[in-house]
Amino acid sequence: MSKDIEKTISDLRKTFYSGKTKTYDFRRAQLNGLLQFVTENERQILDILSKENRKPKFESCISEISHMKTEINEALTNLKSWMQPTKPRKHISYILDKVEIHSQPYGVVLIIGPWNYPFDLVISPLIGAIAAGNCAVVKPSEITPACAKFLEDTLPNYIDSSCYVVYNGGVAETTKLLEQKFDYIFYTGSTAVGKIIYKAAAKHLTPTTLELGGKSPVYLDDSADVELAAARIMWGKCWNSGQSCVEPDYLLCSEYMKDKFVKAAKKKIQEWYGEKMKQNADFCRIINQNHFKRLTKLLEGSTIVLGGHTDPADLYIEPTIVANVKTTDPIMEEEIFGPILPIITVETPEAAIEFINNREKPLALYVFSTSKIEQNKFLDGTYSGGICINDVLMHYSCSALPFGGVGASGIGTYHGVYSFDTFSHKRAALIKSLDRFGEFTQSVRYPPYTENKLKIINLVTMNIPGMDFVMSNATLPLLLVIFALLYFMYFKF
Ligand code: NAD
Repeated sequence: MSKDIEKTISDLRKTFYSGKTKTYDFRRAQLNGLLQFVTENERQILDILSKENRKPKFESCISEISHMKTEINEALTNLKSWMQPTKPRKHISYILDKVEIHSQPYGVVLIIGPWNYPFDLVISPLIGAIAAGNCAVVKPSEITPACAKFLEDTLPNYIDSSCYVVYNGGVAETTKLLEQKFDYIFYTGSTAVGKIIYKAAAKHLTPTTLELGGKSPVYLDDSADVELAAARIMWGKCWNSGQSCVEPDYLLCSEYMKDKFVKAAKKKIQEWYGEKMKQNADFCRIINQNHFKRLTKLLEGSTIVLGGHTDPADLYIEPTIVANVKTTDPIMEEEIFGPILPIITVETPEAAIEFINNREKPLALYVFSTSKIEQNKFLDGTYSGGICINDVLMHYSCSALPFGGVGASGIGTYHGVYSFDTFSHKRAALIKSLDRFGEFTQSVRYPPYTENKLKIINLVTMNIPGMDFVMSNATLPLLLVIFALLYFMYFKF
């Protein structure tokens, strides 16, 4: 890492206070720059990603290129309205005042990304940071060094480098970064490192979003079409070789469904990848030897009912299903983050709900069921960052929905307008006039404090049912009534 971090942040802060990043035109120009970065470098980005872990271009197109473009276009389309102050419904006691909420940028923000979607997971938060008017330091993952270097070398050609800086490095460099005071930290990565980030942020009382991982369960109900469910679940397990934060981690189903599911999953894997699975270009590799060893260790002594082939030289792990799993097995104790699916049998939806609620709140929860009653049991009786009924992963790319975890799976959300909101401080603005007319209504608060003045204040500040309707539909008559009331109570008593 060559840049002097203290000077970089101090320069960024000066730029921020110059107001440069706050105008609508500047934010728009930078978002257009990001769009140009993605569009003009699409081929190179796909090549780099495929070199890192043989990620199929099809998957990269959807999960990186297309997602970044969608997020940028959504911000470009809505930026003007997002930037407008909002006017909440106000209490009658503020009838003469302007009550507004202004979205203000925090200042200089830090974005730390993981390796599994190395472009999207730093660019998507950066879209929110730019749209909200901040300066930013972006720290990509060192585990995907070619992506990190490409971002550092190329991004400055498209967005203003006096406002947005890519800072590369590993643990030592990130630790140094975290010693600095930022105005916001947006971190994506493991729960274990998330705790380190949160602790570092606490030193400066820096507000923080933590996009973390964990074990996202799938419940397969007896009512579900097992072939369809198996296709969707195994697709989620094979996408990026299961190296997604919202990958379906383990499957809960009845003994009756277990065999049917394994049979259907076998059929799908055969249909998708054929006999020579290892040679198939549509299935990517594990990111490095550390993760390969971690994953193959999880398979030791297990009952493999599908797949199980591995090759350390090629970092290859076949899509694998494991049965007869005990809750105390290591595979049920850590996030799998790979193409291995353990099955735990539970005989009722209630037992599945109890199983899920006895563990940390997951980032995602998947339920396959045709029964509305069973679906509602999970919607009402479980807790997770997001829930997706009858599919996996797909809620991630729905920008109308906030994406993020809860409890051990994270703090805060982003995507679409939620990214803008995440990187904006919602500043309360009460704007009053300084005229004599307004002062008449306000003077009741001044000494001498009397019983009558207290009666007036209590009357005005109490919540009257239906007053919201009157406030929005009959402000003038209401004002006259209030003044008459004040006049009689204040002067006649
Ligand atoms: P990681 O926590 O190892 O690393 C993430 C970032 O933190 C990297 O930039 C790294 O340099 C930095 N880092 C690592 N150790 C650090 C330390 N000791 N001090 C300071 N910084 C440190 O995560 P990863 O392996 O890159 O990513 C996989 C994890 O991320 C999984 O748990 C996955 O579920 C999670 N994830 C979550 C989301 C989400 O949106 N919620 C998305 C992708 C991945």
